[in-house]
Amino acid sequence: MDRRGFLAGVGLITVGGAAGAGAGIAAWQAGTAEGPTARTATPAGPGAYAAPVTFRAAPSARIVALTIDDGPTREWTPQVLAILRRHGARATFFRVGQRALAAPDLVTQTAEAGHEQGNHTWAHDDLTRHDEAFDLGSLERTHELLASLTGRPPALCRPPYGRIDSVGLAACAGLHYGVTLWSHHVTGSNPVGGVNVILRRGTPGSIVLAHDGGPEPNAGLIKQLDRLVGSLTDSGYRFVTVSELLAAAA
Ligand SMILES: [Zn+2]
Repeated sequence: MDRRGFLAGVGLITVGGAAGAGAGIAAWQAGTAEGPTARTATPAGPGAYAAPVTFRAAPSARIVALTIDDGPTREWTPQVLAILRRHGARATFFRVGQRALAAPDLVTQTAEAGHEQGNHTWAHDDLTRHDEAFDLGSLERTHELLASLTGRPPALCRPPYGRIDSVGLAACAGLHYGVTLWSHHVTGSNPVGGVNVILRRGTPGSIVLAHDGGPEPNAGLIKQLDRLVGSLTDSGYRFVTVSELLAAAA
């Protein structure tokens, strides 16, 4: 939804100019099927009632985190791993559970190379469009699979599309997850531009999003990821996992 649509949805802009605050609230109530507390959710599990959300961090060291979503895939994951190996870089891979099930060896290989595995739901599920039981099931099933493949339970979730609300956050809190968003995105449609922005404006603590599955990966993206990791490494940056970045910035 664009900004105007959002404002109209919450009754902050009206047509005709005669409406005051009361009409705004009436419009809001009329425009939504849910009451104001419809998405109340309670974390399950012993004592986890917070899920910190991170866009970027502010470490004192020159470190950044590269995050790779939507895989693993036979076509793209090995190419990303080769780039990381070539530059001595580490990354965090947010896995779609059903893709991990289809290519478990790639998950194991990635973990053995020192990269972190995060949870990106079972089927790239939009956490805001399902109920609490569905969201928790999607995340738990992926959690168990990644834990069994790597011997390390994931500690981070990236919500597909960056979409999360109280229900998804409660599921993440119950799993003791941090929620990792991003500060920069290298897309498949304009990877040169995306990398240029990071080289110009990236700072220690930047969290970069790219993909090894879904519609985005292509040869141009892979080439530009190589340029990004190489250029930043040459200028004294180190690529670390998100958990390492968060620990360094704590
Ligand atoms: Zn995704």
